[in-house]
Amino acid sequence: MKIVSTISEAREAVKSARSAGKTIGLVPTMGSLHEGHLSLVRASKSACGFTAASIFVNPTQFNSSEDYNTYPRDAGRDLELLDKEGVDMVFAPPFEEMYREKTSAYIDIGKLSEIFEGKLRPGHFRGVCTVVCKLFNIITPDRAYFGWKDAQQLIIIKKMVKALNMPVEVIGCPTVRESDGLAASSRNIFIAAGERERALCLYKSLKKIEELLLKQNIRDTAILLEEGRKIITKYPDVELQYLEITDAENLECIEEVKGRALVLGAIKLSRVRLIDNLTLSF
Ligand code: AMP
Repeated sequence: MKIVSTISEAREAVKSARSAGKTIGLVPTMGSLHEGHLSLVRASKSACGFTAASIFVNPTQFNSSEDYNTYPRDAGRDLELLDKEGVDMVFAPPFEEMYREKTSAYIDIGKLSEIFEGKLRPGHFRGVCTVVCKLFNIITPDRAYFGWKDAQQLIIIKKMVKALNMPVEVIGCPTVRESDGLAASSRNIFIAAGERERALCLYKSLKKIEELLLKQNIRDTAILLEEGRKIITKYPDVELQYLEITDAENLECIEEVKGRALVLGAIKLSRVRLIDNLTLSF
């Protein structure tokens, strides 16, 4: 596995893989890897002759410097895991390599980035889109792999690629969960020992909504959301930040579930915010 920290080294490695006729797959990450990230690597490996993973904790997508400073980092372990998966190249640039230009240029995707996560974390998706666009320009992947765990992010990146005619296929991979259903996340290490049940209430609420839809044929989203919210508000020390049912393509809230929809939510526990979602098909 080649480990590079500069843009020119990354370009060189990709160039020789491409001239050998290989399809280039990219898995962008912020490190502190878990099974969710590794599932994206496996998806890329199964379809691409050359898989690159990036590790970069991107400061421009953090709203608070505290969150950025405390974001878990473990480069040694990450590299070991990626090597075991047979990744061809890891691009792990320092901050200065990614943001060398003093003049800022940003990608702003508009309305989709101002709702849900974007409303609670202003500027977050501008930072995400900008760094993903930079990674696409550096690695020039044929395919790029993202998790449905961050559904809004995936939808926004697909929109960016389409709107800006970027020559890359964006592939969404299913959410990987821990054995009790909690979505794998780098931030799960901040869940205190006695907090696990509370942390699971968002997933339980999503599952309840899915069950009411599929087993009791309730399609009215006001009823579904009321039942879902009850599961979360039962816990006084869990802050429900949002829980909504939307169209699965454009994230617009819907009144009735017809076809493919998304139920997505966010909660805040003492030291961590958790987000999760399920695709609802009816
Ligand atoms: P992050 O390191 O949190 O920026 O995530 C890097 C990529 O991994 C993003 O595309 C995430 O959506 C994806 N990802 C994070 N957690 C999971 C998960 N539990 N299942 C699948 N993909 C995930």
